[in-house]
Amino acid sequence: VDKLTPTQRSAHMARIKRSDTRPEKIVRSLLHRLGYRFRIQFKDVPGRPDVALVKRRVAIMVHGCFWHAHGCPSSNIPKTRTDFWQAKFKANQERDVRLQAVAEAAGWRCLVVWECETKDEDALAARLSVQLGPTRISGVPGDTFEGER
Ligand SMILES: [Zn+2]
Repeated sequence: VDKLTPTQRSAHMARIKRSDTRPEKIVRSLLHRLGYRFRIQFKDVPGRPDVALVKRRVAIMVHGCFWHAHGCPSSNIPKTRTDFWQAKFKANQERDVRLQAVAEAAGWRCLVVWECETKDEDALAARLSVQLGPTRISGVPGDTFEGER
């Protein structure tokens, strides 16, 4: 039995969203291993992405395949209450697009990492290295520290 009111429920879900998910942890340790400095849920970036590389102005959104309806094999729509889930996924996808748009409007380049990509860390590391560029930005004072937590 669900004892929570809708308001309590969404507060509860918001807390879950804010907590560290496994894919986020993988992405963060991978970036760390590659030598990138970053902040998590940095409030100065509109939309507060999961990971922000401040000097590069790159925001990384880590999306769970199920909740964000990736369309890959791990994101099947449940067979019961299909309409409910489809509406839920559509709302999540619209939210993703909106948050990315506000971050981009503020000058942040957005990269999306899907949960299923974190299963092949070598491939993901290769992609992020290409997209993020050198770990040291030459000529920028203090470039080795971006306020990493
Ligand atoms: Zn996926």
